[in-house]
Amino acid sequence: TPTVRNYELDRALITPSAKIGVGQFGDVYVGTYTLPKLGKGKNLAGNGKNSNSDQRNADSRPDVIQVAIKTCKANDDPEKTENFLAEAYIMQKFDHPHIIRLIGICSVMPIWIVMELAKLGELRAYLKTNSERLSHGTLLKYCYQLSTALSYLESKKFVHRDIAARNVLVSSPTCVKLADFGLSRWVSDQSYYHSTPTVALPIKWMSPESINFRRFTTASDVWMFGVCIWEILMLGVKPFQGVKNSDVILKLENGERLPLPPNCPPRLYSLMSQCWAYEPLKRPNFKRIKETLHEILIEDSINSSE
Ligand code: ATP
Repeated sequence: TPTVRNYELDRALITPSAKIGVGQFGDVYVGTYTLPKLGKGKNLAGNGKNSNSDQRNADSRPDVIQVAIKTCKANDDPEKTENFLAEAYIMQKFDHPHIIRLIGICSVMPIWIVMELAKLGELRAYLKTNSERLSHGTLLKYCYQLSTALSYLESKKFVHRDIAARNVLVSSPTCVKLADFGLSRWVSDQSYYHSTPTVALPIKWMSPESINFRRFTTASDVWMFGVCIWEILMLGVKPFQGVKNSDVILKLENGERLPLPPNCPPRLYSLMSQCWAYEPLKRPNFKRIKETLHEILIEDSINSSE
């Protein structure tokens, strides 16, 4: 069993304020975390690599950072709290500029997961509110940033299983981060994970093999990322609106795919279409997707400056 002992935080240093969201397990709050003074114990936020430590000098007051605090309603149900904390166990393994960072946990009741705050909140809402202002290049940049995070997860043999715009948060107008590792699982090279049938599955984002056989692999993450790119270019429109979940697989097996979003560079739609290859092995991996998105981003910046 993984340990999060190093991540245990002193609750006295955490101050929740306003509620900013509702998760599967409980409410999410914005708040502050006062970093313990250096020298006394370890810096728990960001393993010392965090830029927050750069601003500190030994004699000054302790730094205070803004955080998101996830709470768990079912504090007395060990099975639920274990599932709740599973996300923290997973997040502690990652260190990437486009993945929301775990700051730590309070593992005694009331159980809290403390994370880096994405100040601008959910990507879908942000896309809708700022649809007029968002340039094409910015949307491409978001896709590229997410592909770097997913390429990182691919290299770590992690399958996210729930890649969708609803699981992306906005840190600044030019920076998005992948969040929500509630469904993700580590998988060994050849194997794959069979989901438990009790969880509600995001059918409209899922690959045919995930829908048909509950097969989740990096290749099925690639499919989902194609859908996530589509949502971003559509400024937060969800896929297959008005289609019943049970009809999605029929469409996919008929060769139907999500349509070309307005103003989508042909090269990008071609990449999305490759992510939606019926055969998992025919899909590109995230490393390739990242490289292609980088090229598309550069092409776009050249074209738009002409
Ligand atoms: P669900 O499974 O329904 O997505 P969840 O239990 O995974 O729920 P989250 O989606 O992670 O919970 O959190 C619920 C909401 O809280 C998010 O949609 C977002 O609005 C807000 N939130 C969560 N984490 C952060 C964060 N790090 N920064 C800013 N807002 C956050």
